[in-house]
Amino acid sequence: MDLKDPAGARYADTAFTNGYEFTQGHGYQLPEYPFVAPPEIGAKEPARHPIVIVGGGISGLTLACCLARHGVAAVLLDEDNTVGVKGASSRGICYTQKSLEIFQRLGIYERIAAKGIEWSVGRTFAGHDEVYSFDLRQQGSFNLSSQPAFINIQQFYIEGYLVERIMELGHVQLRWSNRVTAFTQDKDGATLSVSTPAGDYRIRAEHVIDATGSRSPFREWVGASVTAKRGDDRWCIADVRFTKRPPTERHTWIEAPFNENRAVWQHLMGDEVWRIDYQMAPNADPEYVSREDVVRERLARQFGNDTEVEIVWVGPYAYRSECVNQMRHGRVFFMGDSAKIVSPFGARGGNTGVADADNLAWKLAAVTRGQAPVSLLDSYHDERHEAASENVRVTNRTARFLRPADGVERIFRNATISLAKQHAFARSLVNTGRMAVANSYSRSRACDRTGGISVQNVRLRWANGRPGCINDLLLWSGSRLLLLVFGTLDAATVRRLQQLSASAPLLCVQVVGAGVTPAAREHVRDPQGHLQGACRVSGTGWALVRPDAYLAATGGKVDGSLVRKLSTALATRLETA
Ligand SMILES: Cc1cc2nc3c(=O)[nH]c(=O)nc-3n(C[C@H](O)[C@H](O)[C@H](O)COP(=O)(O)OP(=O)(O)OC[C@H]3O[C@@H](n4cnc5c(N)ncnc54)[C@H](O)[C@@H]3O)c2cc1C
Repeated sequence: MDLKDPAGARYADTAFTNGYEFTQGHGYQLPEYPFVAPPEIGAKEPARHPIVIVGGGISGLTLACCLARHGVAAVLLDEDNTVGVKGASSRGICYTQKSLEIFQRLGIYERIAAKGIEWSVGRTFAGHDEVYSFDLRQQGSFNLSSQPAFINIQQFYIEGYLVERIMELGHVQLRWSNRVTAFTQDKDGATLSVSTPAGDYRIRAEHVIDATGSRSPFREWVGASVTAKRGDDRWCIADVRFTKRPPTERHTWIEAPFNENRAVWQHLMGDEVWRIDYQMAPNADPEYVSREDVVRERLARQFGNDTEVEIVWVGPYAYRSECVNQMRHGRVFFMGDSAKIVSPFGARGGNTGVADADNLAWKLAAVTRGQAPVSLLDSYHDERHEAASENVRVTNRTARFLRPADGVERIFRNATISLAKQHAFARSLVNTGRMAVANSYSRSRACDRTGGISVQNVRLRWANGRPGCINDLLLWSGSRLLLLVFGTLDAATVRRLQQLSASAPLLCVQVVGAGVTPAAREHVRDPQGHLQGACRVSGTGWALVRPDAYLAATGGKVDGSLVRKLSTALATRLETA
C-alpha cells in the first residue's frame, strides 16, 4: 500500500473532520482508489442487490471482507476515494485481541502484526508517583490466544489492508466516490439514491448496512431514536516522532504535572509515531492549543528541551456519547459509529465496529444462502445493542473520572487517587479507561444461557499432528456452525452426529486429548485442554461455536437438548428436533 511516510508527507492545510471534531490538522498521504462509473447510471430500472453496505470505514470494510470470505455478494458505497480521514492522522490506534483474531480469520493479521506495535505493559501516574502498573501477558484472560492482547497501529493501515484483501477475495464491489443521498424502504426492498462524479443513480437492496459513522444520515431517514449525551471535555493530540525512544508501554497520567495537572496519554504506534494525547481546559480554544509553538512548548515540558521532536500531526478534539435505541430498522442495520459513539478511552469505538461486522456477517451469509430464516437477523440487535449499551456505559464512567464535575465527583476522584498511591484495593477505582473486551451476550434470542461468550483463538493439533488454532476450524466450517464434541464417542453417537450434520448447516468435529483414539473421521487433538477450557466444557460434553467465534451453547450429552439448542442458534426449528 502506498501510504507515504510522515516525514515525506504532503500536509493538507485544512482538516476533513468526517464526523469527529478535529478542527485543524495535518496527515499522511493516503492511497486514492479510482472511481468507476456504476452500470446503473442511465438504467431505466434500478438494479437489485442482496446486500448494500454504505460506508467504507473500519466497520463497513470489515463487514465487506467478512462477506467476501463467506463468498457472499455485496456492494459497498463510500462517498470518499480513500481510507482514513483526509487531512488528519489516524483516529484509532489500539486494537484488541478479539479484533486481531477476527483480522486473522480475514487474512490480514500478519500485515497488522508486521506494521504495528505489540504492547502489554501499562503504567498509570498521578503527579510524580506511579499509582499502578499491569502486564496483560500475566493475565490468564489474554495468554491462550494465538493473538496478543493488543497491537497499536494507525487505523488507516487496517482499512487499507481490508480494501486489498476484499479485492483479492472478490464477491464485493467497492464503489468509491459514491455518496448515498436518500433512502426509502417498503415491503419489497430498499431504494438508495446515489450521487457520483458521472451522475446519479438508484439501487435496490434486500438488506442495507449503515456504516456511515457518527454523522449517519440513516438515523433521520429511518426515524431512529438516539440516547445522547455531550460533555465539555477537550483534548489535543500530538502525534510525534522522537530521536530518543521512550519504552514501548502505555503511560497514562491522571494528573500530569507537565500538563497543568490534567490527564495525558502516551502510546506508540506504527512508523515509530507516538500518540501523546493531552487533556485541555474545558474552555480551551482549539486553534490556540494546536498552534505549533504551543504544542512544542507542551512537549518540551513533558520530555525536556533537549529532546528532538518531529511533529507528524496535531488534532484537537471533543467527543460525545450516543447510542441508537434499535440496531435494526426494517431492512437497515446500524453498525460501528452510526450505531453508537463513545469517547476514545479504552479503544471501544473501532474495535466494537469490527465486532458488529463479524456478528452480522455470518448471519447475513446464513440467511442469503437459505441456511437460516431471516428472523436470525433480529439477534443482531439483541447482541450488539447489549454490547453498545455496555460500551457507552463503561466509557461514560471513564469520562466522568477524567473530567469530574465540581463537588462530590471531584472529591471522590481526589480521595481515590491518594488512596490508590498507598492501597491496592483503591487502584481498581482509578478509571483511566477500561480497555475494550469481547462483550458477552446475556439476552440474545439466538444464544442459550450457556452461550453468548467469545471463544479465544486457542491452539490445537490437527489429526496429523500439525499445529492449528480454532480460527482454522472456523475457516473450515465457513458459514456453518461448528460442533465440537469433547471426549470419547460410541458408534451410535457418531451416527447421530452424522445425521445431524446432514440436516443442518453444521460441521461436527471430535476433540480428543493425548493418547485417545478418535471415533469420528473429523477430529482434532487438544493435548493441553486449552480448546476445552476456551469452550467452557468440563469432562465429556459439547460446544456449539458460531462463525464469529462465540459460543451459541454448550451441553453434556449428545441428545435432544443439542438439537433444541442448535435450532435456537439458527432461529429455526430443525426437523430432527
Ligand atoms: C482521537 C480518537 C482516538 C480513537 N482511538 C481508537 C482506538 O484506539 N481504537 C478504536 O477501536 N477506536 C478508536 N477510536 C474510534 C474509531 O476511530 C471509530 O470508532 C471508528 O472510526 C468508527 O468506524 P466506522 O467505520 O463505524 O465509521 P467511520 O470511520 O466514520 O467511517 C464512515 C465511512 O462512511 C462514509 N460515508 C459517510 N456518509 C456517507 C454517505 N452518505 N454515503 C457514502 N459513504 C458515506 C465515510 O466516507 C467513511 O468512510 C478513536 C477515535 C478518536 C476520535
